[in-house]
Parts: sequence; C-alpha cells; structure tokens
Amino acid sequence: MKALLILVAVLISVWLWRNRRDSGASVSTKQPAEPKPQDMVRCHHCGMHIPGNEAVVGKQGSYCSAEHQRLSES
Ligand SMILES: [Zn+2]
Repeated sequence: MKALLILVAVLISVWLWRNRRDSGASVSTKQPAEPKPQDMVRCHHCGMHIPGNEAVVGKQGSYCSAEHQRLSES
C-alpha cells in the first residue's frame, strides 16, 4: 500500500513537471519567433544577406545598396 502511494506521488510530480516544462517551452519558443518573419534576400552583386524591406530591387535581383545595383547592371 505504501509503495502504491509513493508511485502515485511520483507520477503526479512527473506530470506536474512535464506540464510546467511544456508551458515554459511554448513561451520560450514563441518569443524569438516573433521578430523573425522578415524575409532575407541575397545581394545579387556581393552575396550579402539583407532584410527584404531594405533591399534595392533591380532588374536582375535584389541588392544591398543602389551602388551594387549600378555596378551589377551597368
Ligand atoms: Zn551588395
């Protein structure tokens, strides 16, 4: 009977630990994922990766600067 009580206590503590770990993990995985959905594009001239909203879009692709667009397309 005592062994059964110990087993139940262990099972409850494992269940509580897993619940706490799962909720903690979902919070920690949520936070770094939020600022990320900004697509990175590769500069057609030098290969540097830049955020899509900062890229200079040219005829042959995206560029990190207007200078690289000019150098690549002229
Ligand atoms: Zn570049």
